[in-house]
Amino acid sequence: MTPASRPAMHLTPRCGARTRSSAPCRAPAVRAKRRCRMHGGAKRSGARPGNANALKHGFYSAAAKAERRQLGARIRGWAKQVRELG
Ligand SMILES: [Zn+2]
Repeated sequence: MTPASRPAMHLTPRCGARTRSSAPCRAPAVRAKRRCRMHGGAKRSGARPGNANALKHGFYSAAAKAERRQLGARIRGWAKQVRELG
């Protein structure tokens, strides 16, 4: 007998991924996820936002990248204006 909070394994939700033979994966999904441990259910998505443990110079920080993006957009805007002036 299993407790109600942990239903028998064969009754738990299945992973919905397709296997390499295109058949559906029948492994149990990771708890509260929709995929099994082999199909990404156990995946963590890297460091938490704001983690600075490996920060050396910040060239690739989100703020620095956004700043470079904005600067590039402004330069492209000026270049467009110059082109339009003939
Ligand atoms: Zn699976």
